[in-house]
Amino acid sequence: MKKTLLSILIISVFVTIIALPVDTKAITLQEYEQKVEQYAQELEDKNNDINVSKKKLEEIKNKITEYENQITKAEEEVNALQEEIDRSNKEIEKKTEESKSIIEYYQITNGENIYLEYAFGATDITDMIYRMSTVEQLTEYNDKIMNELQALIDSNKQKQLELKQKQEELTELNKKLAAESSKVQGNITAMEGLVPNIKGQLSYYKGRVEYYKSVGCTSSDVIGVDCDVPKAVTSGSYASGIAGANGFVFPVSGSYRLSTNFYWNGSSGHKGLDIVQYCGAPIKAVANGRVYYVGNNKDTYGAKMIMIVHNYNGRLVFSQYAHLNGYAVSEGEDVAAGQTIGYMGSTGWSSGCHLHLEMSETKGWDYPDPGNYWSYIKYIVSPYKYIPR
Ligand SMILES: [Zn+2]
Repeated sequence: MKKTLLSILIISVFVTIIALPVDTKAITLQEYEQKVEQYAQELEDKNNDINVSKKKLEEIKNKITEYENQITKAEEEVNALQEEIDRSNKEIEKKTEESKSIIEYYQITNGENIYLEYAFGATDITDMIYRMSTVEQLTEYNDKIMNELQALIDSNKQKQLELKQKQEELTELNKKLAAESSKVQGNITAMEGLVPNIKGQLSYYKGRVEYYKSVGCTSSDVIGVDCDVPKAVTSGSYASGIAGANGFVFPVSGSYRLSTNFYWNGSSGHKGLDIVQYCGAPIKAVANGRVYYVGNNKDTYGAKMIMIVHNYNGRLVFSQYAHLNGYAVSEGEDVAAGQTIGYMGSTGWSSGCHLHLEMSETKGWDYPDPGNYWSYIKYIVSPYKYIPR
């Protein structure tokens, strides 16, 4: 690794550590079970919220339909009133014509004075009054009917006005309801978007609980300490590599070059050893242990790495192998000292094939938060504390 790049990396790593102040912590099976309950509850709450919103949406949509029906009904009423108005107007026309005809009958058809002649041609006064009033009554009767019809037209026009006003109000209400409906729909979509993540968490923790129970853990057991304990590091036989007296081996066999040494004061420096051999060189587990992490999402720059937890003399020791170009083990696997776990590469922040070996230890039997790379970084030690030089 180049020194200039290295110093930038060190600063960025340091900043990341400050940003994620996660401490190591003993985790009991009970805590996993609580996580299951927590996520199950969260899922239930979310589903309830979604259902409540869906119900609300349904109500809004029903209301919109109801108003639409009312608008249509008002439209029909307006039309019916118009027909009645038209009918009344025709009736008035008819009555006007009728009255005219009556007058014309007496005034035009039989001459201007025929009405008077008709009236005065009465045989006696009773007959005359009768004849005069017949004409008056006929026209008066028509006037009365016409007035009534006009009153009906006026009242119908007023009703139409009111109905049109109601239509406008309902249309305005529906606009508001449509806006509310799309807002509620948006909330539902957002909540539904969170469900897969909650389900994922729930299924992860359910899986862990199942697994730990299957290996005999009870609720109060500290994972990795009281149960599911990694194989102990013991001195003795190794798959390959240069054996250290304590049961630890060097992570590559054959000749190698140390490009950057360990220099770490707790906050800055280089947290491990940079070991250069050749691209694709087999990387060995430094001791018996359990593979704790395999992947490339723990490092800001995407380096492929493996982390192994070792059970050594009453404490947990961690080894981390970075910049790999491939893996030979998977998470949860038990490995032996010297076993090939991956291959030397240049992934992540790296200018050439090398292995960055980092080691840390916890105080006593603390077990780091599973999957949290930064949770043990404050316990960084020189790999030479364990592996042979
Ligand atoms: Zn390094």
